[in-house]
Amino acid sequence: MGNRLQIAKYAGVLAICLALGLFAGFNPLAVRIDSPAYDVLLRMQADTWTPQSVVVAIDGPTLGAGHGMRNIRTILAQTLEELALAQPKAVALDVTLHDDVDPAEDAKLEASLRATRNLILPCQLADQNTKWEDPAPRFRSLGPLGHVHTEGDRLDGVSRQIMLEQVAGGQRRWALSMEALRLTLGAGNPEESPDDVTVGNIRIPASRQNGRTLLVHYLQPGTIPAISALEIGSHRDELRGKTVFIGVTDFTAASDRLVSPYGVNFAGVEMNAQAFETMAQGRFLVPASNITTLLVCVSLAIAAGMIFWLLAGWRAYVAIVPVLAAAHYFLAVQFFARGIVLPYVAPVAVAWLSSIGAATYRHFMVRGQLRRSESEKSRYQQAIHWAAHEMRTPLTAIQGSSELMTRYSLPDAKRSELTEMINSESKRLARIISTFLDVERLADGQMELKQEPLAAAGLVETCMGRAKALAERKHIGMILDSAVEGTLLGDRELLEYALYNLLTNAVKYSPADTEVHVYSELRDGELRLAVRDQGIGMDAKEIKSIFQKFYRTKRAEASGEVGTGIGLSIVEQIVFRHGGRIEVTSTPGKGSCFTMIMKAHVTAPTNAETADRRR
Ligand code: ADP
Repeated sequence: MGNRLQIAKYAGVLAICLALGLFAGFNPLAVRIDSPAYDVLLRMQADTWTPQSVVVAIDGPTLGAGHGMRNIRTILAQTLEELALAQPKAVALDVTLHDDVDPAEDAKLEASLRATRNLILPCQLADQNTKWEDPAPRFRSLGPLGHVHTEGDRLDGVSRQIMLEQVAGGQRRWALSMEALRLTLGAGNPEESPDDVTVGNIRIPASRQNGRTLLVHYLQPGTIPAISALEIGSHRDELRGKTVFIGVTDFTAASDRLVSPYGVNFAGVEMNAQAFETMAQGRFLVPASNITTLLVCVSLAIAAGMIFWLLAGWRAYVAIVPVLAAAHYFLAVQFFARGIVLPYVAPVAVAWLSSIGAATYRHFMVRGQLRRSESEKSRYQQAIHWAAHEMRTPLTAIQGSSELMTRYSLPDAKRSELTEMINSESKRLARIISTFLDVERLADGQMELKQEPLAAAGLVETCMGRAKALAERKHIGMILDSAVEGTLLGDRELLEYALYNLLTNAVKYSPADTEVHVYSELRDGELRLAVRDQGIGMDAKEIKSIFQKFYRTKRAEASGEVGTGIGLSIVEQIVFRHGGRIEVTSTPGKGSCFTMIMKAHVTAPTNAETADRRR
């Protein structure tokens, strides 16, 4: 029972640690650690694969040769013409063409765009994301549109994800990279479900609930080839059959420069190519579901709990190291390798808090147990001393009387007086011994309980009658406050022992010239027998301990009354074994009230029934 309570308390401590850890992990502040941790994990993977895309960069030299951004359309037209010779699979343009510039220039670009196979045109959000800025009407129908909206993390500016869909002015547009994938695969319209978007045979996990966000599985910088628009002619083989992303990369001209988790500053067009690679390779990174995170955290808390429960001392501290290492490193890495992004702070916080909580609890529990067993041992020794002392008095009387009887010829009256004394003193001796044995047997559950119906009134009367002499010696009035009704089912002797003990305690721990009141009440099928005194009382903390074997309050010790601290532990056992309970209220210096609450049977027993059961 005690052990089960300990386990329940321990589990409670771990549950609190788990809750605190989760709270810390899901706190907005934790994102400040989760995000950089994510970047480190991404970099550690150092993934490389043969890219299916190439970035054609309108870089500084290209702009220089083409006389700057003013001539971007001519530059683009030339680039597309060159590119056509290399026969790429698809061409995604990340250069916005939303206004008409010069008719001659635009006509030239239009012709190049028309000649481009699988072309995707860009559109971007404008007017605070309320409308789309589409290509000018003459270009508009030359290919599907894909949005080129990218944004960095609100906290640290790092671009980790793109939104696969964006809505503005009631119109929805897919991301440029996704449209590039669709044309590359020759697929029809994407199929949508609440959890994902399917393009061709590629299922992209991006739930509608999260705004169709895609974590970009960045390849190491430099993995996706970037070819200057000026040098297409000498790189045709590298471009053949690839999906080409054309964009401005020149530092001064590109308006959409971003920071990648690699800490590298790069242009929007490169991010589109990276997003395309993530989808084309199917190497998705998905945030762990709340259930997965919770399971991981619960497992860590259980592991920490088991370690400190099963192992002691340095062994536990050694064993906890792998758990903490798992929380800090191995779990995150293993999950990441499988495309699942665990939050970083939550498991770490849970593992540490659970370990600290478990270790602290075990430390105090072991200390408490040690203290309890030591004090129980010393109280037990005291009790044995007391028993030995108590036994000495009747033994001396028996010894003395029997010696007198054998040595001297005594008159009959004296002989019978001594015989009487030997008899009563041996009974007293037997009582002391049986009390000690009863405690052990009751506690072990060995003692058999009789189940006889007995009238509560009779029980109260007997016990009060017996305790009266004791009370009178101290001039203590013993008063019955109410009529006693109801019948109890149980062991008469044991119940008498219990009530008698409460009465004698009340007398023992009260000063002379006070009163002990007995009160009985039958309520809701329960019989309440209360014994109230005006004695030394005790405080709330002491009340919790008085049912422990051998416990005595300081006031009781100081009162000079002899005691063992066993009586109440037997009383509690008796009442408990009868399915009842005891309530105690007390005020130091004012008095105490002990109430036995037992299940009552309303019908009074017949004499025959009682006699029957007794047999
Ligand atoms: P004891 O032999 O010491 O009386 P008990 O088990 O009967 O042992 O009681 C345990 C302790 O509970 C007592 O030592 C005393 O400190 C406290 N106690 C019990 N009854 C009373 C009471 N009526 N008033 C004050 N203290 C009490």
